[in-house]
Amino acid sequence: MEELEPGIRRVTFALPLGIDHVHCYFLRSSSGGWIVVDTGLGTRDVQKRWRETIDELDAPVEAIVVTHMHPDHVGGARDVAELTGAPVAQGRDDHAQCVSAWGSRDGERFAEYWASHGMPEETVSGIAADSDRLVSAVHWVEDPELLDPGDEVDGWRVEVLRGHADGHIVLLRDGVLIAGDTILSGITPAIGLYPNSRPDPLGDYLESLARIEELAPRVAYAGHREAIHDPSGRAREIRAHHVERLAHAEAALDGERRSAYDVSLSLFGRELSPTLRRFATAEALAHLERLVAEGRAERSGAGYLKAGMGAAPGRGQTR
Ligand SMILES: [Zn+2]
Repeated sequence: MEELEPGIRRVTFALPLGIDHVHCYFLRSSSGGWIVVDTGLGTRDVQKRWRETIDELDAPVEAIVVTHMHPDHVGGARDVAELTGAPVAQGRDDHAQCVSAWGSRDGERFAEYWASHGMPEETVSGIAADSDRLVSAVHWVEDPELLDPGDEVDGWRVEVLRGHADGHIVLLRDGVLIAGDTILSGITPAIGLYPNSRPDPLGDYLESLARIEELAPRVAYAGHREAIHDPSGRAREIRAHHVERLAHAEAALDGERRSAYDVSLSLFGRELSPTLRRFATAEALAHLERLVAEGRAERSGAGYLKAGMGAAPGRGQTR
């Protein structure tokens, strides 16, 4: 466990897939205990790992806050709650997403969704196998305390910064942003469109980046990688990355109708595992839907066309 500054500590756990680690944070409470933010993945050794972590603390855990419903953040929530007896708090919208993603998972619907966006059958089946494994490592809680924007957790203000996840919450106090995966150092948070999610996650995310600039925290402690000492500057860099990726996605619409899968090949290349292809296709979809919202692309069946290439009268024309 590392002390980042007085009253803020961090523990880092290894992850088996994709990014190789995740950070969880400990915030000193006003009564001298600890608030845990994020819980890592609920893999087989989760209770042992957390028992050792809790044993290192000098005071009890009084509350557990989950920033968002992705497996590497909410995955150990139930375990940490069982080990500490502390209540779990989660964003209201985020918990609803948690229920729909992990509580009533409809594998067939997901398979149809990816197939309808042009994904080949063997990739779709690869995804199904991986997701079954993942679901077993997500120990979310059914009845957390629900947080809304403007709520406070022991002096930390709750903000909802949508995009990476629909209901992603962050905590802010005295210029310190406990950021979850809203901004990351060196890598950009995945922004994908999934069934049951809000219709324009990239639009949401660009607003969240603007909000981070407006809040102008002194430091952001994120779910992965190192601390960010110029969060506003990092928000601007990530925005520039998406502006470029939008242009790339627009260029991939070369006059033919293209599926989100096709566009993912052009954005991310051909050599990806099924699970990484799922991220790539969801990310391509988020960019395509933003292009539609900006009038730069059109939906055509389950695919997309460059704006003005459709058979139907274009935007602004009258019959
Ligand atoms: Zn994460």
